[in-house]
Amino acid sequence: MILLFIAKIRYFILFFTKDKKICTLVYYLNLKSPIMKKYLSLVILFICTSIIAQDTYLHCGKIIDTERGEVLKKKTIIVSSDKIIAIKNGYVTSSNPLDIVIDLKSKTVMPGLIDLHVHIESEYNPQKYMNAFTANDADLAFSSLKFAEITLMAGFTTVRDLGGSGVNISLRNAIAKGEVVGPRIFTAGKAIGTTGGHADPTNGWKNSLKGDPGPKEGVINSVDDAKKAVRQRYKDGADNIKITATGGVMSIAKNGQNPQFTLEEIKSICDTAKDYGMIIAAHAHGDEGIQRAIIGGVTTIEHGTLMSDKSMELMKEYGTYYVPTITAGKEVAAKAKIKGYYDELVVPKALAIGPKIQATFKKAYKAGVKIAFGSDAGVYPHGINGKEFGYMNEVGMPVMECIQSATITNALILSMENDLGKIKEGFIADIVATEDNPIDNISTMENVVFVMKEGVVYKN
Ligand SMILES: [Zn+2]
Repeated sequence: MILLFIAKIRYFILFFTKDKKICTLVYYLNLKSPIMKKYLSLVILFICTSIIAQDTYLHCGKIIDTERGEVLKKKTIIVSSDKIIAIKNGYVTSSNPLDIVIDLKSKTVMPGLIDLHVHIESEYNPQKYMNAFTANDADLAFSSLKFAEITLMAGFTTVRDLGGSGVNISLRNAIAKGEVVGPRIFTAGKAIGTTGGHADPTNGWKNSLKGDPGPKEGVINSVDDAKKAVRQRYKDGADNIKITATGGVMSIAKNGQNPQFTLEEIKSICDTAKDYGMIIAAHAHGDEGIQRAIIGGVTTIEHGTLMSDKSMELMKEYGTYYVPTITAGKEVAAKAKIKGYYDELVVPKALAIGPKIQATFKKAYKAGVKIAFGSDAGVYPHGINGKEFGYMNEVGMPVMECIQSATITNALILSMENDLGKIKEGFIADIVATEDNPIDNISTMENVVFVMKEGVVYKN
C-alpha cells in the first residue's frame, strides 16, 4: 500500500513492505513547475512500486522436473520472497498490478545447478605459485569476487568449495549476507593433507621457508593430528572437510597417485567430521588411496582416476559418491602441452592422469556407482563448469541423469534435499534457464541465460 502526502514543498511517501515494515520516503521540492513536480512524483512512485512488488510469475515453456525425470510444458512458477510458492498449469497471471511476470516461454527452466567441486577463491595461472609469497588475503578476496559472480552467472547457484586459504569462508559469509554476488557456498576452508602431500601448503618452497606446518595449517601425521585438524576447521567456520587421500597433479611433487594417509588417519578424520555434522570429500587418483578413503568413511571420491573394479564395488557397498571432474582432467592435459605453463614436476602428471578420468567415469557409471556432479573449476577458468554435462553425456550418462546429478543428487549430499535441487512448492527459489532444451542439445548447459537465486533475478 502506498500513501502519498503532498505538503507545500515536501512529499511524503509511506509504503508497507511485505514484512509489514513501514518505510517513509521524504523529499523536498522547491520546483515551481507543476510538470516537473508531477514527473518527479511518478519517478518516486515507480521506485516504490519496484520495492514493494509482491510475487514473481515465471512463464516457462519447458521445465525440467528433476524429481520425476520429465520435461513439463507450459507452466507458471510463482515465487514469493525467496521461495517457490506454487507451480500452475499454463501461463497464469495475477490481479495484483505490482506482481512481476517474466517471459521464459521459449526457454527450458530447471532448478539452480549445484557444483560439488570448485575452488572459488582462486583460478590457476602460471603465476599462481608466486601468489603464495606476494598476495595478501585481501588481494585474494578482491579477485575472488569475480569468480563468484561468473560462477553464479553460469547457472550454478550453489557450490561446494573444496579448498582454499580461508578467504573462501569469508566469501561465503559475504555472499550469504548479500554484500557481494555469488553462489551459495559450502566450504571446506583449507584442505587437509600430510607432510609433503598434495595439500601441504609449503610444497616446492625452499627449505628455509618450508617450516613445519601442522593440523592448524591442514597438515597431519597421526590419528590425533587428524582430529585436531578437523576440529580446527570447525572452529574456523568450514562447512565440510576435504582431504587429499593421494598425490595430485597440481602440487610440486613427483607422485600424483600415491596413498598419503594411513587408513587409521582417514578413519579418525571421518569419525571426527561426522561428530560435527560435516561431510568428507577425498581427492584421490591412485587405487590404494581410493580404497582407504572409501573404507575410512568419506562421503565423496573426487577424480577417482585410477579406480579399479574392486574400488567401484566398494563404493557401491559403502554408498560412496563419485565426483568425476572430467573437465579438470581435460583442461589440465591440454594446458600441459604449453611449454612453461606448469612446473616441470606437474607436466608429466597432467599428461598421464588428466585424459584418463572420462574413461573411468564411463566404467563407474556403467557399474552403478552413484554419480555426483563436480567440475573442479578454479583449476581452470571459472564459469565453464557446464562443460562437465557434455563430457558425462558423451560416454553414456543420459542428459536427464546428468542434470539430476547436479540437482537432486548434489542437494542430497549437502543435506539440502528439502530446499534445493527441485522446482517444487516450498523449495528455495533457485531457478535457471537455458536457450535450448538440453535433452536435445546438451551444450546449451554451457549457456545459461536466466539466473534467479533466492527469488532475486541476477541474469535475464
Ligand atoms: Zn580440486
